[in-house]
Amino acid sequence: MARDHIYINGLRLLALVGVLPHEREVLQPVQVDIDMEVDLLEAGLTDNLVDSADYGAISVAVAETVRMSTDLLLERLASRIAERVLQFDHVEVVDVRLTKLRPPIPEDVDSSAVRILRTRVDMRVPARHRAIVALGSNLGDRGAYLRFGLERLSNVVAQSQVFETDPVGGPENQGPYLNMVAIVDTDLDPFALLRRLLQIEAEAQRVRKVRWGPRTLDLDLLFYDDCTIQSEELTVPHPRFAERRFVLEPLAEVAPEHCPDDWRNRLPVVGVYPRGGIDGLVAHTVLH
Ligand code: ATP
Ligand code: CA
Ligand code: CA
Repeated sequence: MARDHIYINGLRLLALVGVLPHEREVLQPVQVDIDMEVDLLEAGLTDNLVDSADYGAISVAVAETVRMSTDLLLERLASRIAERVLQFDHVEVVDVRLTKLRPPIPEDVDSSAVRILRTRVDMRVPARHRAIVALGSNLGDRGAYLRFGLERLSNVVAQSQVFETDPVGGPENQGPYLNMVAIVDTDLDPFALLRRLLQIEAEAQRVRKVRWGPRTLDLDLLFYDDCTIQSEELTVPHPRFAERRFVLEPLAEVAPEHCPDDWRNRLPVVGVYPRGGIDGLVAHTVLH
């Protein structure tokens, strides 16, 4: 879940909303206040509006929704505002406060309001892309690093169990790995997602010294929708996934359709031991 916010405060409009007969005919003043949870990490790096939620465009869309209203209840109008806001890229959660500035009741009341909180999941707004990420760790509290990775990936829709695996390649004597695979729904484009993965690795104090050397956290992008990408910084599908049992065993649990035919027979049976779900993982698993 995003930790950053964008606000639209005090958007004042006239709306047709209410159950009383005259409220069905006369426009009345309302105020909309919106608090959006938006992941601003990428925008903070790129300085580019496409990586943020455009509050100008959102204000215009909300104003249009309110002006077109014929709703009886503030609750209904607030819900439609939330739905409209969640259609904008990068907005993960929206908190809408809709205030009737002159409520038509006999008592002396300043205003009445409803406030609702909605997420993309509540509104069934799907993220636009599906990525598959391989996670690995062989330094420090490996399980905690995997958990940290999952948490920071934020929108994990499926995950494999954890496998403890013998190191493949790299320097002699590095410790065993924990590996797993997660399916992630995302609005980021593949390059932004890769930058995100590298950022999360950095937050996990990953240091690159030698190729395939020990690491606190490795996040590899295995697949991104059905895209094929070949560029200097990013290759998708990941160029070595099909040769790696430590990737294919967990991948087979969450997305077997991506595993090459006959991999179980073709690849040598070496050093991959199932350790169960990440939540049940004990801190210091001993290798076989
Ligand atoms: P391997 O890629 O063989 O698993 P590794 O994970 O140890 O090795 P890293 O040092 O983590 O390699 O990554 C080196 C670079 O690989 C990254 O900086 C990134 O630019 C690039 N890269 C290219 N394609 C991908 C991908 N699909 N997923 C992650 N990184 C990628
Ligand atoms: Ca890797
Ligand atoms: Ca990597």
